[in-house]
Amino acid sequence: WDVNVCGTKNLLEIMKDNECYSIVFSSSATIYGLTNSVPISEEQNFSPINPYGKTKVAIENMLCDLFKSNINLWKIASLRYFNPVGAHPSGKIGEDSKGIPSNLFPYITQVAIGRLDYLQVFGDDWDTKDGFGVRDYIHIIDLAEGHIAALEYLKLKKSGFDFFNLGSGDGYSVLEIIKEFELSTGCNIPYKIHARREGDIAISIADIAKAKKILAWEPNKTLRQVCVDCWKWQSNNPNGYS
Ligand code: UDP
Repeated sequence: WDVNVCGTKNLLEIMKDNECYSIVFSSSATIYGLTNSVPISEEQNFSPINPYGKTKVAIENMLCDLFKSNINLWKIASLRYFNPVGAHPSGKIGEDSKGIPSNLFPYITQVAIGRLDYLQVFGDDWDTKDGFGVRDYIHIIDLAEGHIAALEYLKLKKSGFDFFNLGSGDGYSVLEIIKEFELSTGCNIPYKIHARREGDIAISIADIAKAKKILAWEPNKTLRQVCVDCWKWQSNNPNGYS
């Protein structure tokens, strides 16, 4: 709450002092929380189940109120990221988790490079196609292009507040990710089934129709490119940036 909510409030005050009224905010699919229907559109109710998601809801509310307080002034786009993954295709910029990674992809690449023995899979009894958790993974390059599209969109507007899902629009299970990573890199990823992780949900897939239509954006990268780029970065940087 301190970093996300208070930090955003401080940033907005400084922006106002400097007469800078355009902002693209990094929101999150976590705001939707438990949901019964996929794909998830922007109109779905918020039901965040962890503090991170609750702070993102609070910030979106703050941004909305700020916009309404002077509707001719602010230009705000809130981008709701699904699961950002991958690395820069050069292999020079990637995810260097501090300590043991908590997200799936950095965990898998550290197993692949031999820093971790095996992947712990958090549950194989979810109500999904194969019992494994399903997520919408979006390559960071597609995500970055979504930000450029949002900036271009804001540039054409006099003022406004809008929000967009940024995902691939496809859902893959943890098992499908393991298999695709093995296939595209030739690495072996041993795994063991563990209990479900607290705060996890079964499935999350984005409806990206709004971003496609209004931002004229769409993701181009495949899951294979995600795996290849992640592995390129990890194998070029076995111990991260250190
Ligand atoms: N997951 C897993 N083992 C891990 C990390 C993640 O089985 O070490 C699963 C997790 O339960 C979820 C998916 O992989 O189904 C994506 O998890 P991640 O933490 O990357 O993103 P989240 O959607 O939870 O923010």
